[in-house]
Amino acid sequence: MPKIEVDINRCKGCELCVVACPYKVIGMSKKFASTGYYPAVMVKPEKCTGCTLCALVCPDVAIEVYK
Ligand code: SF4
Ligand code: SF4
Repeated sequence: MPKIEVDINRCKGCELCVVACPYKVIGMSKKFASTGYYPAVMVKPEKCTGCTLCALVCPDVAIEVYK
């Protein structure tokens, strides 16, 4: 099953990936990372198709997609 991993040390919580995902797989964590930002997390992992749109829009190169 495809999945993404968010590097919470890179994520700045901009939410661009949340908007970009056509399947609403991504949401924002309710917990701060050590950077002081709320990082992106998978909220509907079963919906991920591995399309990589989220990784392409991330300005901080924080998302890795595994197919
Ligand atoms: S790879 Fe595609 S489907 Fe999966 S979280 Fe990213 S944008 Fe959404
Ligand atoms: S686009 Fe990148 S920096 Fe922005 S919330 Fe998503 S993972 Fe974090």
